[in-house]
Amino acid sequence: MTISTVGIIGAGTMGNGIAQACAVAGLDVVMVDISDAAVHKGQAAVAASLDRLIKRDKLTAEARDAALARIQGSSRYEDLQRAQIVIEAATENCELKLKILQQLDKLLAPEVLIASNTSSISITKLAAATSRADKFIGMHFFNPVPMMALVELIRGLQTSDATHDAVKDLAERLGKTPITVKNAPGFVVNRILVPMINEAFFVLAEGLATPEDIDAGMKLGCNQPIGPLALADMIGLDVCLAVMEVYLAEFGDSKYRPCPLLKEYVAAGRLGRKTGHGVYAY
Ligand code: NAD
Repeated sequence: MTISTVGIIGAGTMGNGIAQACAVAGLDVVMVDISDAAVHKGQAAVAASLDRLIKRDKLTAEARDAALARIQGSSRYEDLQRAQIVIEAATENCELKLKILQQLDKLLAPEVLIASNTSSISITKLAAATSRADKFIGMHFFNPVPMMALVELIRGLQTSDATHDAVKDLAERLGKTPITVKNAPGFVVNRILVPMINEAFFVLAEGLATPEDIDAGMKLGCNQPIGPLALADMIGLDVCLAVMEVYLAEFGDSKYRPCPLLKEYVAAGRLGRKTGHGVYAY
């Protein structure tokens, strides 16, 4: 099956980023959100992002206009019926996603593929909510989508080889580098990244070094573009804590216990950049 039209559920941070990547790659896009206001906000975000690329000489005005013309915004799920794949990028809430997927499953022709951009929900579980579990896959993009090269392809227990291969081909057409992962909490990248951040909090709590020196150590010693504590402030300390709590519950292994200092900062409302104070003050 050749994919020429991509449906996207959700016009938020990730949905509009995926829409932009698809449209710039020459694919037609139908981007659906719950209200016209949310759709327009997503379309405006794509336009602003493309304008930034023009300013940096990475895109021509003609290419921007062509990309914007390829994105149909809509608040009607029926408009997704012309897509060969629908990528779900709605709010991270399991009940909501299960409801959306059941609705989509009824609406779409049986051969249409469905992908979810979830960061934390089991792909096997989401697939099981549809009558096409073999045609369901995780397609985990990274933020900001137009800039980040990686896509994790998460195979649920039921995902077929044909589905995996078609979605891998799609990711490559978007100029991304896909990696294939079996379904498990955190997939690959967040499974390694968030425990590393948690360990940085243990190092800080033990007074082994200052935050600045811990971050400098990981930047200069491991070639990371940003230190783990500064990164925690960007992600949100509450998000890092919630992820560790999921790993601890799902794996039942004490190596995933959240650092008490991380819990203490979250309890104090020091959530990072978004509250003006995390490990660092902003
Ligand atoms: P967001 O809050 O920016 O956008 C979510 C959008 O979904 C909103 O516009 C909301 O109106 C819409 N929505 C809610 N219910 C809907 C429904 N029933 N039908 C259609 N649209 C609906 O969230 P986001 O950051 O874009 O995250 C979306 C998904 O991507 C989540 O599953 C998240 O875990 C995942 N993700 C996020 C990031 C990130 O860094 N933000 C990275 C990778 C994956």
